[in-house]
Amino acid sequence: MTLQFTHPERLLRSFGIVDPADIDLEAIAWELGAKIRKGPLATCEARIVGLNGRAIITVDERKPPKRRRFSIAHEIGHWQHHRGRCLTCRVQDIGSIRQRPANDPERIADEYASDLILPRYLIEPRVQDVPRLTIKTLGEIADEFQASKTATLIKVVATGRFPILMVCTTRAGRKWFRSSPTVPGRWFPRTDVSPDSLAFEMLYGAKPESTMPRPVKASAWFDRDAGGFTILEQSFKVADAEIMSILTLTDKKMLAS
Ligand SMILES: [Zn+2]
Repeated sequence: MTLQFTHPERLLRSFGIVDPADIDLEAIAWELGAKIRKGPLATCEARIVGLNGRAIITVDERKPPKRRRFSIAHEIGHWQHHRGRCLTCRVQDIGSIRQRPANDPERIADEYASDLILPRYLIEPRVQDVPRLTIKTLGEIADEFQASKTATLIKVVATGRFPILMVCTTRAGRKWFRSSPTVPGRWFPRTDVSPDSLAFEMLYGAKPESTMPRPVKASAWFDRDAGGFTILEQSFKVADAEIMSILTLTDKKMLAS
């Protein structure tokens, strides 16, 4: 399969970057005519002000390093796609998984940021040697790419390397999910949070994150014909009242199309 490189991936390759540790966003921004500044921002998380081919990107210095990094990459995306516009990006504009139309500038900037920080040509070979995905291995990959576990997981799911789904839930139910291309479309997660899931125990109880994936009934996550199957679940907290679950379909019968 030939990989179609996106703009940020072509850019990284043109710089000869073959290791995530070498993705120096300040240097890349500089090459593109943008300077990065850190400072306190009151009403937004990051902003870009450009004039005559030069721009200044400011990120909120109070945010954690991985979040700042994603925000810088997001602003570089705006610089490449929405030049001539002065943009201020709020917390909910950056790294928001809410479905936005494909031409929405915030979504375009997020996708750009994702490919700049977690390019597929570096993620795909990295996951080849991972026999199975746990939160621990996910955390190691996320640290190598200096990205959040959620942003990393989105790219890992998309590789199709593992038969997994990632499902984000709150007490109100399923917020969003992504499936590996190897998971048949009939495995569509329930909209509610089942008491049989570990996510439920983490949302409503004080259950800590499990160190290893645990078997749960597939019916805890899927409505459809899931009665007899068992899957693996491992969940982690992403925000105060938000849980991310990695569901692994271990039964080959579930993967048959
Ligand atoms: Zn933005």
